[in-house]
Amino acid sequence: MAHPKILEVIEHDVCTACGACVSTCPAGAITMDKHAEVRDPDNLEYYVKGAAPDVCEGCFTCGRLCPVIDGYVDDEFADVKEFFAAKSTIKGQDGGVTSLLAKALLESGEVDCIVGIARDEKWDTELILMTKPEDVDRTTGTKYTYDSVLSALRDPFENYEKIAVIGVPCQAHGARLISENVNDKIVLIMGLLCMESFHHDVMTEKVVPEIMGLKAEDVVKMNFNKGQFWNITKDGEEHTVKIPVVAPHARNPCHHCCDYTSVSADISLGSVGAPEGWNSVLIRTEAGKKYFDMFKDKVEIMEDPKPGMFLIKKLAAMKHDNNEGHYREVCEKFTFDECGIR
Ligand SMILES: Cc1cc2nc3c(=O)[nH]c(=O)nc-3n(C[C@H](O)[C@H](O)[C@H](O)COP(=O)(O)OP(=O)(O)OC[C@H]3O[C@@H](n4cnc5c(N)ncnc54)[C@H](O)[C@@H]3O)c2cc1C
Ligand code: SF4
Ligand code: SF4
Ligand code: SF4
Repeated sequence: MAHPKILEVIEHDVCTACGACVSTCPAGAITMDKHAEVRDPDNLEYYVKGAAPDVCEGCFTCGRLCPVIDGYVDDEFADVKEFFAAKSTIKGQDGGVTSLLAKALLESGEVDCIVGIARDEKWDTELILMTKPEDVDRTTGTKYTYDSVLSALRDPFENYEKIAVIGVPCQAHGARLISENVNDKIVLIMGLLCMESFHHDVMTEKVVPEIMGLKAEDVVKMNFNKGQFWNITKDGEEHTVKIPVVAPHARNPCHHCCDYTSVSADISLGSVGAPEGWNSVLIRTEAGKKYFDMFKDKVEIMEDPKPGMFLIKKLAAMKHDNNEGHYREVCEKFTFDECGIR
């Protein structure tokens, strides 16, 4: 009877729900509920439903695509080729550079499609397959809840040739493992910086109403900045609490995650390290440089931005300090030993 390694990742509640296994399992054996985060380690119904042994063919592909099994690097900055700040004219979460690149890639035909995340008024998320520049407009802005970006790649892998991925570090990592192991249609990975994310119901039923004292539908923007969690409401008011008040409510896999800057991406984008309204941009690969340079004239660039790389490194070190012990503990429980921090 097949026992894919990802079963242990799910059992120990460290599955990030990236969706790499869902989009690539040749038997189509793994399914993800709409709110992937409801995968409950004490109730493996979602897993068993999809990957019951009579369906699973025991090819073990999924174990090679799982970021949690692959593990983390100690030095997140070894491969960074260029660091600068950039901003566009698009009203995005920060400098809108992610959306600008997405639009330019689709407009120029350099990529056929990109998966993005839209949200409704109540901050419920929806995965969008962007094939036209105007599709990008629905996806701007950060959702601090999680949706399984890579699970939406199953159809694109069948129907398109050149795919770009935008996602948080666990998704960038899963995308890189897919492109290295099973499918070379991913031409560009844009990874976001990420300290943590939240279950949809925790965000909308606990964090926003109980901690912030607000209704989710009144909140137009969320942000983590300057040590505070910010909710901007429709009336323009800014509501804040200190990050340590909300951080413990993040998803369990996020407390085991040791990637802050999307190490596996071609281009990493964030806000930390850049001035307000700008993106910090880390170019990591030749592909990242090639695509960024193609559209560089569409954005404003600031070399040597302040506060700069030192702050990104400080926060990456903080994430590692907080989470490495948790991750190592769970690795000890696995029956396989690929995982770890190198
Ligand atoms: C959960 C989360 C935590 C983050 N934490 C940090 C942090 O600690 N420090 C930091 O510097 N930056 C962090 N970021 C990145 C930051 O919020 C911006 O996404 C980044 O600076 C790009 O800004 P932009 O203006 O270019 O984005 P925009 O042009 O507004 O584009 C936003 C893009 O992000 C995608 N997106 C939105 N929400 C999600 C999501 N939940 N999962 C995957 N993709 C999503 C959209 O599909 C869209 O393509 C985080 C992002 C997320 C999603
Ligand atoms: S072992 Fe192969 S068939 Fe089984 S769930 Fe994993 S990818 Fe699918
Ligand atoms: S590949 Fe992603 S979704 Fe699949 S088990 Fe690993 S972390 Fe979870
Ligand atoms: S903290 Fe890690 S596991 Fe959580 S959403 Fe961010 S990259 Fe994924």
